[in-house]
Amino acid sequence: MTNHLFSEIRANMPDLAKTFLETADRTSLSYGDVIARSARYANALVRLGLAPGDRVAVQVEKTPDALMLYLATVRAGGVFLPLNTAYTPAEIDYFVTDAEPAVFVCDPSRADALQETASKVGASLQTLDASGKGSLLDLAEAASDTFEDVARDADDLAAILYTSGTTGRSKGAMLSHENLASNARTLVKYWQFTADDVLLHALPIFHTHGLFVATNCLLMAGGSLLFLPKFDLDTVLGLLPRATTMMGVPTFYTRLLGSEAFTRDLVAHIRLFISGSAPLSAETHKEFSARTGHAILERYGMTETNMNTSNPYEGDRRPGTVGFPLPGVALRIADPKTGRALDQGDVGIIEVKGPNVFQGYWRMPEKTAEEFRADRYFITGDMGRIDADGYVAIVGRSKDLIITGGFNVYPAEVEAAIDEIEGVAESAVIGVPHPDFGEGVVAVVAPKKGAKLDKPAITQALADKLAKFKQPKQVHVLNTLPRNTMGKIQKNVLRDQFKADFE
Ligand code: ATP
Ligand code: MG
Repeated sequence: MTNHLFSEIRANMPDLAKTFLETADRTSLSYGDVIARSARYANALVRLGLAPGDRVAVQVEKTPDALMLYLATVRAGGVFLPLNTAYTPAEIDYFVTDAEPAVFVCDPSRADALQETASKVGASLQTLDASGKGSLLDLAEAASDTFEDVARDADDLAAILYTSGTTGRSKGAMLSHENLASNARTLVKYWQFTADDVLLHALPIFHTHGLFVATNCLLMAGGSLLFLPKFDLDTVLGLLPRATTMMGVPTFYTRLLGSEAFTRDLVAHIRLFISGSAPLSAETHKEFSARTGHAILERYGMTETNMNTSNPYEGDRRPGTVGFPLPGVALRIADPKTGRALDQGDVGIIEVKGPNVFQGYWRMPEKTAEEFRADRYFITGDMGRIDADGYVAIVGRSKDLIITGGFNVYPAEVEAAIDEIEGVAESAVIGVPHPDFGEGVVAVVAPKKGAKLDKPAITQALADKLAKFKQPKQVHVLNTLPRNTMGKIQKNVLRDQFKADFE
């Protein structure tokens, strides 16, 4: 038996002298360095007592070495468990207690605050800072740069990734070697990645988008990363000329569009822009293509399932849709209550099945059982429909569905209508308690820079666009909408803020 995921990465490696990663200050790692450096970290982990199946919990800044630690964990047969850098020590205590890792790596500035948490679960506490220095680096530097990969099966766990916590407390999704390998294999082909690709990487690496979609794709294609600690507009504008492709959350694209330096010429050579993790508004899609000539390719995935659908590489990339189910992914639209498959065109819950779908929630057997149908389809919690040409459109999360006076209102439809109004940057449509209707539709709208929005004008503009029951009964204008670190709008925060609207 081989190490299922890493042997596939190895098998696809180009010439070992080729660059895998380069930072803004031009520090680089070749593919040969990737093997040697991840071997050092794998040796360090084993020295710290890591046994196959043990978790390595990691809350560190985004650095090349943090990425090497991911590969090292996989090679050593461990389970990589990255944690959002925004979590406070009190939040980290919950995750680490839940995960019971053998090794816990944190920033040196937090070591004192987290020592007790580590000791409680018997984890060895190690450090790694934003420049890649710390006790774990010291161990790695002292270790050998060769390592015999620990044998792991397709079904063995490679990672536990916590969901973004947009709708409630984050859940740990258990992902197997084949969950990750199969999705990367599929995406490389579907998006036509090759060794010539240079991906501008400004996403965090504690989330599936930056860690698996971006990194595993480029590794499997033998391409390179321009690796940035975060999305900084000027740095990104400066580096785009050296990239062939970028993956981003929708806010990356709106921020680029907000800059006059972002021109057609700057990105004329780019092969592909990809968006995901949150809905990309049709307006942004259109504005981007008007400015640059590029149709952003929008895809849909989840921590639990990796990527499920994608707009086509060749062919029409339709604004406001997430494209087709990926090869190997079975997708159906079902009645939320019964699970019965609905007719084409009907709105229902999106359910998926395939080698991409996770092994269950860590230590939550009941929650896991609730989210799967008897025939092993996973209930995503997203509502959607499939159009006559097979494109999937997401209409909102089931938890965000509004039921007003007995009618269903799908927030995405109302948001799309609002986003078309002159001067609107973005919108969020929510339901809050209403004495007569059960829930009342509320729109929260953010203006474009310099634009002034007037509430009656918004109401007026929607009057003949939407059926009466879909029209917001209340409109709020906020400068910006609340988002979490993945750029997702926090509707629960808005629902709380405006819960008394109809009291
Ligand atoms: P939690 O499950 O903890 O509430 P989360 O669902 O936001 O948080 P993630 O796994 O990071 O955590 O995100 C997956 C979700 O992101 C999907 O279920 C979907 O709602 C949303 N999403 C991802 N891509 C898209 C997209 N292209 N368009 C619309 N929504 C998307
Ligand atoms: Mg979710």
